[in-house]
Amino acid sequence: MTEHQLPQGFETLAIHAGQEADPQTGAVVTPIYQVSTYKQDGVGGLRGGYEYSRSANPTRTALEECLAALEGGSRGLAFASGLAAEDTLLRTVLQPGDHIVIPNDAYGGTFRLFAKVLTRWGVEFDVANMQDLATVRAALRPNTKAVWVETPSNPLLGIADLTGLAEIAHGAGALLVVDNTFASPYLQQPIALGADVVVHSTTKYMGGHSDVVGGALVAADAELGEQLAYHQNAMGAVSGPFDAWLVMRGIKTLGVRMDRHSSNAEKIVELLSRHPKVSQVLYPGLAEHPGHDIAAKQMKAFGGMVSFRVVGGEEAAVEVCNRARLFTLGESLGGVESLIEHPGRMTHASVAGSALEVPADLVRVSVGIESIDDLLADLEQALG
Ligand SMILES: *Cc1c(COP(=O)(O)O)cnc(C)c1O
Repeated sequence: MTEHQLPQGFETLAIHAGQEADPQTGAVVTPIYQVSTYKQDGVGGLRGGYEYSRSANPTRTALEECLAALEGGSRGLAFASGLAAEDTLLRTVLQPGDHIVIPNDAYGGTFRLFAKVLTRWGVEFDVANMQDLATVRAALRPNTKAVWVETPSNPLLGIADLTGLAEIAHGAGALLVVDNTFASPYLQQPIALGADVVVHSTTKYMGGHSDVVGGALVAADAELGEQLAYHQNAMGAVSGPFDAWLVMRGIKTLGVRMDRHSSNAEKIVELLSRHPKVSQVLYPGLAEHPGHDIAAKQMKAFGGMVSFRVVGGEEAAVEVCNRARLFTLGESLGGVESLIEHPGRMTHASVAGSALEVPADLVRVSVGIESIDDLLADLEQALG
């Protein structure tokens, strides 16, 4: 990974893993190798192992090594989007006739991938409450090949016990897949807790600036990593060099951003918790959150995502979203700027009528790293 043999902390790895100074020019930042093919020195004589940029590209390689280092896995892979990463993973580890257990509060696009794409391809799934290990155990079948979990989950901020889930999955001969998008590896390290594969939408906190769409997989095990790399090339949903570069640039500041996202979110939660127009605040940092103790154990801080329910129902919740000014009304999350949205009509419209339907009075905010007083003032006026 790097030529230094000294032990390295997370923030050091974020800035240096996979990113040695360019050997030819000394450039301290990995260049954007905007190139599709590579000159060979005689037939089959590859310089540095590169022959075609779907198979490998030096900018993408740098990001992939960094991802593996940050998640403590043996292989990192970068994709065109989070869903491209998920699709590649699922069609590597599952075959028609296999079964997978997915969370009852999965990201809407993940649910749609299962319900509308993978079922047509012959994969069966069951939905379980990942916060209740007995329910997960009951959902297992002889053909279960994987258990999929998001923690904290989207948009209900549910917390699942990763150590417990790893035990259950492995006991059934299944993989534990963790979508670590909401926490990021700075706040939570699923592989150390027993996960086999970590999934990211790098569009979110990893990129961190709302300027790129990307995805990642990190495999704990080298052999599975090799199979995933084979499918990454065979299926072709790779990250382009500029997108890989943007994600890598974002990752350099991941630690300081996550600290600020988390501390700003805690102050937003304080305001919401005592506001008469708010009936419930969903945030794992709250002592009354059912997953608080597990979150405190498996996360470094509680992150920047906060959801809350508005007194007055769906229309009142939509109005709060419409009145916000500094909190930008929009989908996505994890950028430096604060965002607000109504999951029922926006990000989670595709799960309406399913087991994953979210409350109509729910508002989700992605707390950014702007001045906290400005954020508090905006929410105060939006709540009216
Ligand atoms: C956004 C998101 C995804 C999908 O990623 P894309 O980059 O949009 O394809 C998957 N999981 C979670 C938790 C997400 O927030």
